[in-house]
Amino acid sequence: MYRVNLTTTVFAFIAAFAIAAVFPIAAACDPGMEKQDEAAAQDKSGAAEKVTIVEVASDGTKKGAVTVDKVVRTKQEWKERLTDEQYYVAREKGTERAFTGKYDKHYEDGVYKCIGCGTALFSSKTKYDSGTGWPSFYEPVAEENIDEKTDLSYGMIRTEVLCKRCDSHLGHVFTDGPRPTGLRYCMNSASLDFEPEE
Ligand SMILES: [Zn+2]
Repeated sequence: MYRVNLTTTVFAFIAAFAIAAVFPIAAACDPGMEKQDEAAAQDKSGAAEKVTIVEVASDGTKKGAVTVDKVVRTKQEWKERLTDEQYYVAREKGTERAFTGKYDKHYEDGVYKCIGCGTALFSSKTKYDSGTGWPSFYEPVAEENIDEKTDLSYGMIRTEVLCKRCDSHLGHVFTDGPRPTGLRYCMNSASLDFEPEE
């Protein structure tokens, strides 16, 4: 009887120490990482990285170049501003399912802007139905407003298209587009926000 009680007491002690030792570390991990994330963003914004983009009217005409601060936000800030779908596509380089995006069959006149920072990206004048299930354009509204990077994911060689000002992922560009450029900017609706022509 005595032995059993002693064993139980010893186990209880070990368990209590184990829990006390593990939990503070686990609890400290997450906030620590968030702080690092914020620090990295602040360093970048502190250095005031600039980017020159072109302002565009709602009818797609260019208004001229402006030099502005690059938009840098923490993971948490992005999550607060975007829906889960927008975050997954724009910030984690995801792809929305074909034929599900709100701008796939959308043909009003206006300008498609970045969901992350509002930079004008595409004009309705260059939008066409590629039949792929994603909004497609044959050219960006201003070359200055986008960035293109080689993307080797999924065993393919593709060219990723990103917003120049906030680095949000927009989609990919392919060389099977229509005239006059022969390019197909295959975009995700989740990365775009439409501004109707006034
Ligand atoms: Zn942007």
